[in-house]
Amino acid sequence: MARITLDHIRHAYGPKPSAEKDYALKEVHHQWEDGGAYALLGPSGCGKTTLLNIISGLLTPSEGRILFDGRDVTRLPTESRNIAQVFQFPVIYDTMTVYDNLAFPLRNRKVPEAEVDRRVRETLAMIDLVDWADRKARGLTADQKQKISLGRGLVRSDVNAILFDEPLTVIDPHMKWILRSQLKRLHQTFGHTMVYVTHDQTEALTFAEKVVVMYEGEIVQIGTPVELFEKPRHTFVGYFIGSPGMNLLPAELSGASATVGRQTIPLSSGPTVVPEARVELGIRPEYVRIGREGLPIQVTKVEDVGRQKIVRALFEGVPLAAIISEDQEIPADPRVVFEPHGINIYADSWRVEAGG
Ligand code: ATP
Repeated sequence: MARITLDHIRHAYGPKPSAEKDYALKEVHHQWEDGGAYALLGPSGCGKTTLLNIISGLLTPSEGRILFDGRDVTRLPTESRNIAQVFQFPVIYDTMTVYDNLAFPLRNRKVPEAEVDRRVRETLAMIDLVDWADRKARGLTADQKQKISLGRGLVRSDVNAILFDEPLTVIDPHMKWILRSQLKRLHQTFGHTMVYVTHDQTEALTFAEKVVVMYEGEIVQIGTPVELFEKPRHTFVGYFIGSPGMNLLPAELSGASATVGRQTIPLSSGPTVVPEARVELGIRPEYVRIGREGLPIQVTKVEDVGRQKIVRALFEGVPLAAIISEDQEIPADPRVVFEPHGINIYADSWRVEAGG
């Protein structure tokens, strides 16, 4: 397994990029730990596949270097990088047995047959296909086939990293959940460096230790699921992660309080921002309390979502979502309190540290 260093990488598909907008991938400069599980998360077109292809060697970046354990691999082809890849659609040999599919990458590398047998049997147990070893792959279900693709990565002892590109797209919802949990367990047990591309936040948050959120060709935050929830670095992260996403209220700051419309909201500290910055308060619906105390709101809709309710309201004309318990009543004259520890402050979409 390897530590992956992305050293000032940028990529443009067109010739002679001159402005920021010409780059599909703006500057990426990070180090990903050996044995880490990373998810690249973001909407379509944000640059996830571009970055994954640079790591796998399908693409040479326009600028910067990529290193595996300190070794520059920027110009090495995929075959020389010892990378295992799992794509959206399973890549397997239908006419071979499940056993031979797993043995193939090892036999290709001239691994002695006794070692092949040991590793294939170990992998079959990991992916729960022991009883299917002698069956032809042709007759298997989509999720079993995808497990073989995964197994072909796990079976090799020499891989630097396993890369996944939306691997659960063709899997049905119930199996998705099972495969995801299984993958996480495999990672915890065997500690492979894994990079997993998805546009599905549930998939990213349940699989990864570190989620890399991408937006318009840029990494806007790398964080644990808790960090992304509590302290989104960019308003996009607040909006993209969470259901519903973070509320954003245009505000003006004055010392340790903020003004939204005609209302004043106390803050836990008074950060300084440049005078011309566009300031917004970001508050997750989980930190919005609705009751008889606080500032006035107009409730526009209440959605029952099982054990909770989502309240849609207007606060000073700005749409606001709150999550309340299913048994909570909304008073006739509803009011709102924002929990101070749940308020993040943004200047021109980027989070401002309290007091900074
Ligand atoms: P998706 O989830 O849809 O695959 P993504 O986040 O993986 O999206 P990329 O495929 O990396 O995004 O695309 C990033 C940007 O680069 C997009 O604007 C896309 O149109 C552009 N792009 C991707 N591949 C090429 C290419 N071969 N030639 C030109 N532009 C490309």
